[in-house]
Amino acid sequence: MPMISPSIPTISRRLHNGRLLLTPEDPMAAIPGQSLSGQLLDAGLIATAAPGNGMRFASGKRLFEYIGFTGCAVQFGSALDQTGRLAIEIEGPLDAPVLRYGRNSRPPRCAQCQRPLPTWREQIEQTNSGDERLLHCLGCGAEAPGWSWNWGRHGGFGRLFVNLEPVFPGEGRPLPALLTLLAQVELGPWRYFYVQD
Ligand SMILES: [Zn+2]
Repeated sequence: MPMISPSIPTISRRLHNGRLLLTPEDPMAAIPGQSLSGQLLDAGLIATAAPGNGMRFASGKRLFEYIGFTGCAVQFGSALDQTGRLAIEIEGPLDAPVLRYGRNSRPPRCAQCQRPLPTWREQIEQTNSGDERLLHCLGCGAEAPGWSWNWGRHGGFGRLFVNLEPVFPGEGRPLPALLTLLAQVELGPWRYFYVQD
C-alpha cells in the first residue's frame, strides 16, 4: 500500500471554499475603485494588477502584516487565477448596497430585539432587486432595511468590497494594521465577514 499524504487533498479542497470580504460599516460609503486600489497598492496589501485583470490583484509584499493566517497553507505568487493562489479583488462602487451571503450565512439579528430571523432567505429572495430591502422581524414586528440587521461574520451589505480568496472562514483574519489602513480611506470604520458559495 502506498503512503497517502493526508494533508494535500484536504488543504486544496478547503482553499477553494471561501472568501474574506471587507466593507465599510456604513453600507452607503464608497469611493472609486481606482482610488482604493491606489491606496492599497501604496500600502503593500496588493500588487500591481496584471494586464486585463481589471480590479483583481495578487497579494502585495506586506500581506502578512495585514492578514493573520492560521490552519492553512496558502500559496502566494504573482500568477493570478491559478487554483490555490490568493487573489484580492476590489468590487464596486455599486449603485446601492448589495447583500453578500452564502451557504455559511446564519440568520441576521434584529437591531431592535436581537432575535435571529429564521425566514431571512425567503424574505431576501422575495424582495425586488430595488433599494427597498426591508426585512420583517417575526419577534418584535420591526421592519428595517437588510443592512441595519446584525449579520455577524457570515454576511453583510455594502457598495464597496475588498474580497480575498480563497480564504476558509476564520482562517484568515484582518490584523489591526489592516483595519487602521482601511480607516485611513476616510469612509469610516470597516467590518469583515466570510462567504462560502
Ligand atoms: Zn425584532
